[in-house]
Order: sequence, then structure tokens, then C-alpha cells
Amino acid sequence: MHENKNPRILIVDDEIMNLKVLADLLKEEYTPVLAGSGEQALKHAFSDFPPDLILLDVMMPHMGGYEVIRILKHNDKTNNIPVIFVTALNSIEDEEHGFMLGAVDYIIKPFSPPIVKMRVRNHLRIVHQYKLLDQLAYLDGLTEISNRRRFEEVFQKEWARSARNRTPFSLAMIDVDFFKQYNDHYGHAKGDLTLQKIAKALNSILRRPGDLIARYGGEEFVMVLPETDAAAGGIIANRTRQAVIDLNIPHEFSQAANRISISIGLATIDMDGKISPQTFLETTDQNLYQAKQSGRNRVICSVLGR
Ligand code: GH3
Ligand code: MG
Ligand code: MG
Repeated sequence: MHENKNPRILIVDDEIMNLKVLADLLKEEYTPVLAGSGEQALKHAFSDFPPDLILLDVMMPHMGGYEVIRILKHNDKTNNIPVIFVTALNSIEDEEHGFMLGAVDYIIKPFSPPIVKMRVRNHLRIVHQYKLLDQLAYLDGLTEISNRRRFEEVFQKEWARSARNRTPFSLAMIDVDFFKQYNDHYGHAKGDLTLQKIAKALNSILRRPGDLIARYGGEEFVMVLPETDAAAGGIIANRTRQAVIDLNIPHEFSQAANRISISIGLATIDMDGKISPQTFLETTDQNLYQAKQSGRNRVICSVLGR
């Protein structure tokens, strides 16, 4: 059980002895995966369980290490997997060439086992930190839900996907009612806390893996609902509005309710390829404006397309 969680190290060498030595060296901390040829290495790298790091021999019959790394670096699926050359080629030129092709490290045979271990550990740590940073770049600092940058990416991707598959697509713009008044009377720190609670409530509504809730900015949020038609979108939007009401956060200075409430502009598109994503966003925004104008604490929706 536990072993499956260990990082997977793909070891590539045409000599079985070398594979065995490296596998023995790494098996305590990692899950070694062995490949006796360049072709086999690629099979593993492009599989559903790609390795976290590759130890790659250079000189192998048929397909050498240089060719393997070239293929890996030219494919989006594999170009982030760190590759360490482990080779008997020991000239400065060979080493330079290895780095030029995109290797993160170069180990010359015969190697020192503890140094191999430490180099592997260091490179895996860098990958891990890089992944963490990448995740942070898409999170909103205050509410810890996705940020606007993430929204822009997901919206584009889901818009394209729904156009391709001709599936409906819904988007909800959400804005907290009379939040300036809230801040003015209860203080900015309390305002921050309330935004965190709202974000949590909004997040709890979503069920499907493709759905997204993001902080759009200030006291505005946005919900991406792929493969969601107008009826389903309406249900989700109303559930969302109710979830914030159910938080029961007193707001004596709201003219919309006796507690914190939100207004929602919802738009659904039935794909016909004629409407631009900009127009779609504008419609969502106009619906939000209508929800505000007509009294707040409500959902206004419309359907575009066919
Ligand atoms: P409306 O019902 O029309 O939306 O009124 P409103 O007061 O919510 O709208 P307005 O856009 O005038 O004010 C938004 C307020 O949200 C302004 C600002 O004080 C508050 N706000 C925006 N971002 C934050 C934040 O990060 N923390 C806190 N505490 N307040 C914020
Ligand atoms: Mg606003
Ligand atoms: Mg507001």
C-alpha cells in the first residue's frame, strides 16, 4: 500500500546488472520501474502512470538516451519529467550535450551510490516545490478558493470543450449585497472573515469535478458549470443563494435582507457557435446588474444560443 505513494523512478539501461544495482539502491525510498531499452522507456513515460524522475543511460542499441530525451522534451505530457543521465560517457562535451538536451543532471559511471541517492532526492524535492508553487499561483490568498487567473483558464477550456461537444454551458456571476456597508459598520477584518465564510459556502454547492468556483475580485465570485443546462443552472444558482442566506451572518445595514446575501447573474448557452465568450460574459454581468436593480438577494438568468 505504502509503496504506491512513493515517487516512481524509471531506470533505463540495456544492461540488466546496471538496472539491478540502481533499483536496489533506490527501492527503499522509491518505486523503481525498469526499462531495458529506449523504446520501453518511452512506453512507461507515456503510460497512465508516468514516472516522477528518469535515470537514463546514453548508449543503448536501437534507440539511445539522446533520442529518448529528445522525444520526451518535445511532448507536453512528458517534458516536465526530470531526466538524469547515468552514463559511461565522461568527456566534458558529452556532459554539455546532455544538459543541452534538457537533462537536469549528469552522473558518470562508475557512480557513488550515496551521491546518486542524494541527487535523486534533490531533484524530486525541486519537482515537489515547483508543483506547490504552481498550485499557489492559482489560489486566492484570502479565501483559498481558485483565483481569477484559474477562472480565465478553466472558462476558456470549458467553453471550447462545450463548443466542440455541443453541450450546454452555464456561468454564474455572484456579488455580495451591500458589502461596502458591511465593511463600514463591522470593520474590514470582519469583512474578510465573512468573505471566507461565503467562499466556503459557495464551494460546498459544487458536486461535479468539472465545476469551478473562483474569486473574481473583491466581493465578487464566479461559478463555471460545464454541461449544465438552464434548468440545472437555475437550481444550482438558487441553492447557492440559499446557502449564503443559511450562513445567517447578521447585516443590519443591508436593505436586501437582515443578513448577508448575494445576488447572482446566470447565463446558459446552448451551443450554436455564434456567440462569443465575451458576449456570454457580458450577458452574465447584465443579469447580475438586473438582480441588483430589482432588489438583490436573487437570481436572474437567461439563455443564449439556439
Ligand atoms: P451592491 O449590493 O450593489 O453590490 O453593493 P456593495 O456595497 O456590495 O458594492 P460596492 O461595489 O459599492 O462595494 C463593494 C465593497 O466590497 C467595497 C469593499 O469595501 C468591499 N471589499 C472588496 N474586497 C474586499 C476584501 O477583500 N475584504 C473586505 N473586507 N472587503 C472587501
Ligand atoms: Mg461588487
Ligand atoms: Mg456588492
